[in-house]
Amino acid sequence: MEKTHRTVHWFRKGLRLHDNEALYHAVTTSQVVFPIYILDVDWQTEKEKFSALKTRFLIECLRDLDEGLKKYGTRLYVLTGDATTVIKKFCKENEITQMTWMKDAEIFYRERDEEITKVVHRMEIKTKSFLGHTLYDQDEVIAKNGGKIPMDLSEFYAAIADMEQPGAPCPTVTAKHFKLGSKKIIIFKKSILAFGVWGHQAPRSLPIYRGGERQALKVLQAKINDPTLFTLNGFNQGVKTKLPHTTYLSAYQNYGCISTRHFWKAAEKLPESKTIMLRGQIMYREFFYVAASQVNNFTKMAGNRICRQIEWYKNEEHLSAWQEGRTGYPYIDAVMRQLVTEGFIHHLNRWAVASFLTNGQLWLNWEHGQEMFEEHQIDGDYAMNAGCWMWCTGSAFMDSISEKTLDPVKFARRWDPEGHFTRKYCPELKNMPLKYLFSPWEAPVNVQRYAQFFILCLPVFQFQSNYISLWRIMTN
Ligand SMILES: Cc1cc2nc3c(=O)[nH]c(=O)nc-3n(C[C@H](O)[C@H](O)[C@H](O)COP(=O)(O)OP(=O)(O)OC[C@H]3O[C@@H](n4cnc5c(N)ncnc54)[C@H](O)[C@@H]3O)c2cc1C
Repeated sequence: MEKTHRTVHWFRKGLRLHDNEALYHAVTTSQVVFPIYILDVDWQTEKEKFSALKTRFLIECLRDLDEGLKKYGTRLYVLTGDATTVIKKFCKENEITQMTWMKDAEIFYRERDEEITKVVHRMEIKTKSFLGHTLYDQDEVIAKNGGKIPMDLSEFYAAIADMEQPGAPCPTVTAKHFKLGSKKIIIFKKSILAFGVWGHQAPRSLPIYRGGERQALKVLQAKINDPTLFTLNGFNQGVKTKLPHTTYLSAYQNYGCISTRHFWKAAEKLPESKTIMLRGQIMYREFFYVAASQVNNFTKMAGNRICRQIEWYKNEEHLSAWQEGRTGYPYIDAVMRQLVTEGFIHHLNRWAVASFLTNGQLWLNWEHGQEMFEEHQIDGDYAMNAGCWMWCTGSAFMDSISEKTLDPVKFARRWDPEGHFTRKYCPELKNMPLKYLFSPWEAPVNVQRYAQFFILCLPVFQFQSNYISLWRIMTN
């Protein structure tokens, strides 16, 4: 292919060098490539909430990408400000003839891309965008499903049945593809990526999860080399080993440090039952992305055409008890504290606290939970987070609401049988005997004295297994 272009490759998600078709196209058709990232904190934080831990993860991803590019004789050009304005200026100053990027699915990203495409086309700059964040193109899935959003997994599987199956990853770009973008190189500005810009102080704790492509590939390789490190349900074992026993690749996928296609392919190397299990999980991700690409107000109940409209209670006191991990149910509190201090919780624990906040217990709107998760989870993702909240509260993607309500004490006994997890995050209960650990209000006074943990009152809310009938009344 003739290398004639002066190209800007715009990194947004897709913060990686491997299996990146848009970047590959850029380097194979250009004499010069400028890899850019646009930091528009006002816009980014309006669209998505960022805790300090989540911000740190993103910054690490960007630094890692910059390190990778440095080896190829270039750097990540970090431009700050409104995307349309800075792109226009940068393209003009550097006589750009082509722009490439990885496609995004979310409606607001697509609207921004349309606007920018119009602007640069007027400057006679070619644009090329490629699929890469997901395995399937959302518009194609919708077309295959007769123009409708697949509302359950079987509909989704039927829609993709005769679509092209995920192919081999595209070649990784290497040093030989790159030439220096410009003699006067704009260096990766560490100060610009400092926490202060995001309105945070740098977290004091050391990260458990380090962002970046190299780390993502390392994590994947470790799971493939030792499949015992990957199970779906042995999740509280992570308390002893420090790291979860699922892949914990979701945050890397969120920023595109790992290609989902590469992940999908690599899963082939696991024992067959695990390949099937893991690919099943990845398909859930694809499923939620399709819905999120079509539905306005996807993260809200009001104005969201697929979401059941429910009269949730309003109770600030209950909400803050849940958010701050002081509901009085130790297991629920442990999970919420882990969320805020570590930025990652296991799927079943997400489900447990989601159920507690909504149809299982407090009857508060799922939007509060989705906001809290979006901010604090390092993998907090627009499509997945809101999709999962709607799904597990019966607000969408289900014909009927599950008959089961989640008893937070029974759940804890099942999934934390020795109490290690609960004691770790609720150290005030470290001496409480296991028998009462998950329901300390049942402990006799002499046990409370021994545990040095005194129950002044019952938890503000009592678990009610009859909530399902309340649910029926309120949704009828
Ligand atoms: C209330 C709630 C909110 C959630 N919010 C998010 C979110 O913001 N971002 C996010 O990535 N996931 C979210 N999930 C889905 C799921 O919990 C995480 O994807 C999973 O726990 C990530 O851990 P892992 O990478 O170790 O997963 P693994 O079990 O190793 O799975 C591999 C991959 O499959 C995908 N996956 C796994 N489980 C699911 C699922 N139930 N739905 C969709 N995709 C799945 C993820 O991309 C994950 O990386 C949420 C779930 C619930 C119940």
